[in-house]
Parts: sequence; structure tokens; C-alpha cells
Amino acid sequence: MTEITNTLSLPLPWQESIWSEFSQYIHTDRLPHAILLSGPSGIGKGRLAIALAERLLCGSESHGYACGICKSCTLLNAGSHPDLFSISIPEKSKNISIDEIRKLSSVISKTAQQGGRKVAVINPAEALNINASNALLKSLEEPQGKTVLILVAHRPTLLSATIRSRCQIIPLTPPSGELATSWLNSLLTDQTNIDKALEISDGRPLLALDYLRSDSLRDQKHFEEVISAVRTGDLSFIDAAQQCAKLDIGTALEWFISYLHRSVIKDKRTRSNQNIYLFLDRLNYMYSLIVSGSNVNQQLMWEELLMSWRQTYFSK
Ligand SMILES: [Zn+2]
Repeated sequence: MTEITNTLSLPLPWQESIWSEFSQYIHTDRLPHAILLSGPSGIGKGRLAIALAERLLCGSESHGYACGICKSCTLLNAGSHPDLFSISIPEKSKNISIDEIRKLSSVISKTAQQGGRKVAVINPAEALNINASNALLKSLEEPQGKTVLILVAHRPTLLSATIRSRCQIIPLTPPSGELATSWLNSLLTDQTNIDKALEISDGRPLLALDYLRSDSLRDQKHFEEVISAVRTGDLSFIDAAQQCAKLDIGTALEWFISYLHRSVIKDKRTRSNQNIYLFLDRLNYMYSLIVSGSNVNQQLMWEELLMSWRQTYFSK
């Protein structure tokens, strides 16, 4: 006998209220044909999108969730439901091209193979390139039968305003610290670093979980020790630059920016130091250069950055 494994997604504990809103829409037949789940990465938007898609495709929903045993759910479990389309950034590509959206449009113009709804999940929607975005607009303007489009965006302002205006926007935020901590506690046997992981992930539980399951947390903690040592004068900026140059430059700049945001919130002395804001602008500028693919000499860049980092605290 083959063992049946249920791999269907459930909403996360902090998504319960939005989940009951979905229930109301479904039960009163007012579910929008296009939904945009927006909010920072690492809070479970993708999982919510899939849980909703599965619920909408299930043939005999049970207590507000996909039943897990009907024919549709069996197909979902096997990853082969013909009426679920999941579009993400293809491997070795930086964005979602028009070809992906054309395939989607041609399928949603036909009747659902299982006779129910058709659901498409596009994640992250801000990765749609301009042509893909225009092609998608057509599907959004001419909704086909019982099709539901679920878009997921970490930075919704990068989506075209027209796309946003065609969707029901559902803004999602990180949960309370208490909820995030108890969720992480329930998943991990070693609970020592949970508070630190939540702190450096700005309260985003799934990102914190990634940190806790990888070496990333240790690396980020070490990076923060290095930059504080430069700030207090306990480490020369040249030695520090050597250590920083070994890290992935984009990731390290993100850590630096996040560290500064937290310092501004927590520390009065930092908050009243105007040089910090100029330095933050500079970090953001460097970060945008790196993200856009510019090549820089990492050792030099870190030496310059760390020298001016130290000066932000000592120049008058
Ligand atoms: Zn089912």
C-alpha cells in the first residue's frame, strides 16, 4: 500500500485573520479575481498564496481548509494539478518574461480540466519584466470564468500602477514578537538564538528561521562585531576591510543597512548624529550599484566605507 503524504500548505498562525476574511469572500462568492499579497519578504506571503490556491482548488473544502483527500487534493499533493499555475523567476534568469505570461494566458482562456476554478500564483510579481507586465494586464482586464490570480510582491511599488489598480491589495506585516517567538520555539529544538535571529531579521519569522538553520546568523553576528569594533576604535578599518571583503558584498551591505536602522531606533546618540544619515545614504547608493551589477574593488570599497563609518562618530 502506498503511504499518502499530505504536503498541502496551511496558513501561518499570524495569518488567521486574513484567512477568515478569505473565508467570507469565498462563502459569499465575492472573491476578487486578482489578489495582490504585499509586504516584506520572510513573513510567509508565498505560503499563504499557495494555501489559498489549494483551498480554492479543493473539491470538498473541509472547515475552511483544503480537505487533503479529494481528487483535486491528491493531484495537488502530487504536484500535478492541471489547474494550478505557479510562476516564479526561471533558473538562470533575473526576471519573469512574456513567454511565461503567454503560456499562462493561453491556459486560462480554456475551461478548467478538473471542472472547478483555475488558480495562478505569480511570485515575486515585481520580477515581471515590462512586456510580461503588459501581457498580464490583459488577463487582469478580461477575467476568464472562474480564474483567480494571486500575485505576491515584496516591493509592490516596483509593480506597474495599472497592475496594482486591477488587484485587491492585501497588505501583510510581520507578526508580533510574541507570536513569532512561539512559532519558532515550536519548530526548533535549540532555542538559544531565536531572539537574536528575530532582531536581525526585523521580526520576519521565516527569514529568522533561515538564519537559524544556516551559518548566516553566525556570519551576520560576526560582521556586526567587526563594524562595532571599527566604530569603537578596537579594530583598524584596514583589518576589518580584509574580513568584510571575504563576504558576499550585497549581503554584507544589507546587513550593514539593517544594523544602522536598528541602531537609529535603539540608540539615542546614534539617532541624533546627522552624519549617520549621510553614511546611510552612501550605503544605500553602494548597495544599488552592486544590485545593478557594477563591479567594484571590494577591499578598497570596504576600506573607504569603514573609514568613513568610523569618522561618522568622531568628526565634528
Ligand atoms: Zn480536497
